[in-house]
Amino acid sequence: MKQLSLSASVLGSNCLRKLWLIANGIEGPEPDEATRRIFDIGKALEPVAIEWERRKGREVFYNAKSHEDDPDFVLEVGRGVIVGRFDAVFDREILVDIKTCNLNKFAKLLEGVVPWEWLVQVNVYFFGLKLGCCRDDIRELVESIKKVGIYGVHKESGKTVEVVKDPDLRIFEDVLRKASIVFSTEDPFVLEIDADECNRCKFRGVCKDLGKHVGKELEEGVGKGLEKGTGEDLGRGGR
Ligand code: SF4
Repeated sequence: MKQLSLSASVLGSNCLRKLWLIANGIEGPEPDEATRRIFDIGKALEPVAIEWERRKGREVFYNAKSHEDDPDFVLEVGRGVIVGRFDAVFDREILVDIKTCNLNKFAKLLEGVVPWEWLVQVNVYFFGLKLGCCRDDIRELVESIKKVGIYGVHKESGKTVEVVKDPDLRIFEDVLRKASIVFSTEDPFVLEIDADECNRCKFRGVCKDLGKHVGKELEEGVGKGLEKGTGEDLGRGGR
């Protein structure tokens, strides 16, 4: 039986149907060129931001990786797994995800307000690493991590902001609950959705069309323009 998989970067979604589609390896329509470029800019800025922090004299572990690399942790939840690849650890204590931001998001971070999806992502990294780290080379580092954080880079100005928080076990427990429901459900159309997410969802326009026949579509590997994938969301990092 195929292993179901959800990455930390998508688990902030409140649409369990979306999580089901991702868990079953469906990526949705290919992103357009503009979206790809935004993603590429975010990736390109990561090592630059790391260098800025090192220049300040900080100890920074940069987890340079690609979507093809093995995950840093694997947590078994029922018939599926939660996986993740974190960005960096600052000062051996703060596990951070690096986000390139528009002015609006950057201003929110300056006020200490972290978007829910990002908060979930870093908490899943934290507890996922503590419970299911599968890399010998970072075990000691993982033991020393105490906080989670978002490191925001404002694209236009190059200004940065760092919001650091205590890990939140309740967030992680809620993620386990969601993943458990998604992994144990056969029909995605019985799952709870969040209509507020539809406008920015990559499955917009296709999830409803699949209707009750989604199981058959997946079995045949047709998916009406959908493609099989790894479950890692291109939108990772909120770029
Ligand atoms: S389009 Fe809406 S209902 Fe469908 S998967 Fe996306 S968020 Fe969920």
